[in-house]
Amino acid sequence: MIPYGQHSISEEDIAAVVETLRSPRITQGPKIADFEARLAEHCQIEHAVVASSGTAALHLACLALELGPGDGLWTSPMSFLASANCGLYCGASVDFVDIDPESGNMNPQALHDKLNLSVAENALPKALIPVHFAGTSCDMPRIAELARGKNIKIIEDASHALGASLEGAPVGNCRYSDMTVFSFHPVKSITCGEGGAITTNSSDLASKLRRLREHGMNRNPAAGSEGPWYYEMQSLGFNYRMNDLQAALGLSQMQRLTNFIARRREIAARYRTELADCPLDFLACPANSESAHHLFVIRPRLDEIRMTRRDIFLALQERGIGVQVHYIPIHLQPYYRRLGFAREDFPAAESFYEKVISLPIYPSLSSGDQDQVIKSLREILD
Ligand SMILES: *Cc1c(COP(=O)(O)O)cnc(C)c1O
Repeated sequence: MIPYGQHSISEEDIAAVVETLRSPRITQGPKIADFEARLAEHCQIEHAVVASSGTAALHLACLALELGPGDGLWTSPMSFLASANCGLYCGASVDFVDIDPESGNMNPQALHDKLNLSVAENALPKALIPVHFAGTSCDMPRIAELARGKNIKIIEDASHALGASLEGAPVGNCRYSDMTVFSFHPVKSITCGEGGAITTNSSDLASKLRRLREHGMNRNPAAGSEGPWYYEMQSLGFNYRMNDLQAALGLSQMQRLTNFIARRREIAARYRTELADCPLDFLACPANSESAHHLFVIRPRLDEIRMTRRDIFLALQERGIGVQVHYIPIHLQPYYRRLGFAREDFPAAESFYEKVISLPIYPSLSSGDQDQVIKSLREILD
């Protein structure tokens, strides 16, 4: 079975992890700071704070904004569960902004309308989490403009988008947000096995994130007169640390980020060329944006071909193609329905979900395997 996504581990990656295993510090050692510096350099930003997962990074970002009961968080229904769950972890109420059906990203017009309603009802959210679906940045200039003057903090969920850029600048530079979150799960742009990071230009947020990552503890010896052992807890934090084995792997992977994205771009371009005459649509990517090509999503024109998405999906699977569907809209999950969400709440996300299939894309996908995906899909759609 050709998977839809897959990590690429080199001998150098393995050597980097083994070297760290033999070193005196396997957690909270020097690799963490090195990896953070490397990420900050890539994102052209002041601070990068790594965490044990992308989900932990999202939770930390919400905690750093002091999101809590009585506060609202809005995100995209077309995302992985974690983009919304992080708000619930803090006791905030979660709501969604519908998507643009051409990109799968948060629709600025829907945001505009929802904000207007909320102003009238005095129910503006405290935080907004746009998700860069499939690796292509949301329309951040427009989203930031809509949020301006309303005391709304913006966290970009860039779990799909390490290596992407907008207006020639790397995603993660927080030009239009307070923080950006990345994930290093094996199917993402680079991997640490598990891992995540938050980038920010705010020193205040960065130090809060570091404290919350470690139980809310402050080790600053100047804080206490008791002695050098002194530490102090001022807020309730977690153990969301990344360890040095993960950081060593991430640091090694960063050396190949540019190559990884270039290879993904090549695969995406080839799908677009070789499937151009098929009854299906691709996702839109604006001219000022370079995608990280995390997912390659097709939208078969089901009414033209008189097939269901399920038929196509199963036929591809039968031919050994490990396709996937991204995503079941979060608000349709039973847990979210119990919070009051229902079908028809976000119709663009729901109809997007009904059509999409993600084809295999990852740096080590061979041309032969891609041929097989293309050939199988053409046969099925014929
Ligand atoms: C992968 C992912 C996450 C969560 O990341 P983990 O590292 O798996 O915790 C969050 N949001 C989106 C959009 C993701 O794809």
